[in-house]
Amino acid sequence: MKLVIAQMKHETNTFSPVPTPLARFATGGSMPPEGKDAIAAYRGTGAALAAFLDLAEAAGAEVVLPIAASAWPSGPVHDAAFEHIAGRICDAVAQGCDGVLLDLHGAMVTQTYSDGEGELLRRIRAIAPQVPIGIALDMHTNLYDTMGNNSTVMAGYQTYPHVDMYGTGQRAGKALLALLQGSARPTMAWGRKPMLPHVMRQGSDDSPNRELQARCREMEAQGALSATVFVGFPNADIHDAGLSAVVVTDNDPTRARRWCDELLDMAWAQRQAFVYKIEPLSESMAQAQRLAAGKPTGPIVLLDHSDNCASGGTMDTMTVLGAMLDAGLQDAAAFAIFDPEAVQQMMAAGLGAEVTLSLGGKLDMPSIGLKGQPRVVTGRVKLLCDGHFRNRGPMASGEMNAMGPTAVLDTGGIQIVVISNHVEPHDLAAFEAVGISPDRLKFLMLKSRIHWRAGLRSLAGGVVECAGTGVCTSDYDLLAFKHVRRPIYPLDAI
Ligand SMILES: [Zn+2]
Repeated sequence: MKLVIAQMKHETNTFSPVPTPLARFATGGSMPPEGKDAIAAYRGTGAALAAFLDLAEAAGAEVVLPIAASAWPSGPVHDAAFEHIAGRICDAVAQGCDGVLLDLHGAMVTQTYSDGEGELLRRIRAIAPQVPIGIALDMHTNLYDTMGNNSTVMAGYQTYPHVDMYGTGQRAGKALLALLQGSARPTMAWGRKPMLPHVMRQGSDDSPNRELQARCREMEAQGALSATVFVGFPNADIHDAGLSAVVVTDNDPTRARRWCDELLDMAWAQRQAFVYKIEPLSESMAQAQRLAAGKPTGPIVLLDHSDNCASGGTMDTMTVLGAMLDAGLQDAAAFAIFDPEAVQQMMAAGLGAEVTLSLGGKLDMPSIGLKGQPRVVTGRVKLLCDGHFRNRGPMASGEMNAMGPTAVLDTGGIQIVVISNHVEPHDLAAFEAVGISPDRLKFLMLKSRIHWRAGLRSLAGGVVECAGTGVCTSDYDLLAFKHVRRPIYPLDAI
């Protein structure tokens, strides 16, 4: 048995000004890894791709791995990048294989295609119409029919933060291998509801997503090969953005349809519970200081939830950090401000130097009518490093991250981590890489919405959700939706 196994992962925020060339898929290198380099990068990690490799090995299959391409979320993927990645995968399939296993995101938008994954799958099917295709998908998939019509098995993450990527790869991979070995006949039903759940209300520890995901696992215990609710990624102005579901059964299309509809109806009934109410920043700052005064067991976490790079934020807006500086917070850290230029200035000044910088705010955000607003900050260059670290987990465990040249600017009250590549803080190893012990702090600002919970929540003495500025805003009034289908809740009162 010969399997083509590959990865193409990008969540596209169509409002983001952050460009997405091929280099963004290279995790610190110049090109995304291929062949044995890709296997070395992912074997033994928590990625769905790693599960595919393990399953293939256990089945004694020959593996061809043409490319493993994963990038932090940002604006639409450049056509040249998509053509390169899709071209590698299609070329491998054209050489002949018995099955295809793909580690995809599900919310990729390119300069040309609003459904990048659907376009890739359509091309593969055109080359090899009879070859079964199994895909692992992110919970933030915006599901198009093209994806379902051109694949055999779809399985999505059941956790947010995403700590079950490997398990999702197992669900998709096992169902596909069962088909190839003649022990199952997977059949799928999928569908959508016209709703755009707010990301801040999508955590799988919180109701209503907790109950939806629990019902998926229950269906799998009752015989489904895979059951998935995709909460969708709303900061994408494309026709089919929003919540969807897919259920795979063993040769029982009626049950797949019934279960899929049950999940969709459950979600629709809870649509109001997926709406996030934004608190004014001044109230959040006051609340953070009240909580800190109450002798908490760990740092008060201030979530700068409008500007997280795992949703395509520029990660350089200064609104929340500026409020912290204005409030004179002490024993604090901020992770992180994306500003390669400021890092270079600090490198030129050298360790221990006192510098005054125009920090952050380098990127304009025309989609929400904002110019970048830097802030003048004075501090001491406390640390300089290459920014490489390997995740401890539980999310994406074992995978490498490349923040690029990185500096810590110490203002006296706040240690500000300044990075040259986007990386969202969800893993303790990111802090170890810059010599910061979060548990010793009074305040910890994170540019994150939900993913920080994976590796850092257990440390938090309190959490305050701070509405800053950025293209990851949960205020849909700021986003000029033109292409998403209407009516859709809560943009329309249905
Ligand atoms: Zn996601």
